[in-house]
Amino acid sequence: MIKDSFSEIFGDKNRVLVVLGHPDDNEIICGGIVARLLSEGKKVRSIAMTNGGKGFQNRTDINEKEFGEIRKNEQLEAGKELGLAKEDIFNLDIPDGELEDNLENIEKVVFHIRQFKPDIIITQNPFDNINTFNSETHWVNHRDHRHTALLTIDAAYPYSRDRGFFPDHFTKYNLEPHIVSEILFSDAYSYPDVSYFDITKYINKKRNALLKHKNAFTPEIVEEEFLEETKLEPEKNFERLRYYKI
Ligand SMILES: [Zn+2]
Repeated sequence: MIKDSFSEIFGDKNRVLVVLGHPDDNEIICGGIVARLLSEGKKVRSIAMTNGGKGFQNRTDINEKEFGEIRKNEQLEAGKELGLAKEDIFNLDIPDGELEDNLENIEKVVFHIRQFKPDIIITQNPFDNINTFNSETHWVNHRDHRHTALLTIDAAYPYSRDRGFFPDHFTKYNLEPHIVSEILFSDAYSYPDVSYFDITKYINKKRNALLKHKNAFTPEIVEEEFLEETKLEPEKNFERLRYYKI
């Protein structure tokens, strides 16, 4: 029987910051967890670093700018299905596939950490260039995902904590340094220390949210990939993240 780590990890938390690469990553990675957090009265802010504008594959009827606008709208619609308020859904509008691991982008994440003051952060996998689902299934840990993860761990330590970094935040925006020392990482399927979160009651919210990303994937992908991977026990659904205290 799979142990649900939700209470153990989130029980004493009030504010959860999600920092992910693309407009659909929140729903794919932790849509059920976000819906459960919100239903328990927790505050969640969800940030997509890029606009996903290059995901139009072989279509010739649309350009990157138009597609990015569509993806950002879908992000908003999907977040609302999970219970997120519009003002808690952010898109930093960096061009898809062009997210660099640099100081300028660390500052953007630091700003949100100092403003929102999270108790814990959910982000992508900073450990691997190739993600491992099981012994047969692997995929590239997308460059935007890798950089999101690296930027976010750097933003958490030490850039958000130390007054020497980005002093404009204090003088111009009235923010204060913030320390956040707990992080959850996605794409941790094969790790023995992965934590499981029971989202059975929220699976329809996750499904409805995923279905809002009409231009990112088909309803078949939603069912056969994103929802299928949550079915780890009969009649039960789980999302998986790897917990670290840093
Ligand atoms: Zn992504």
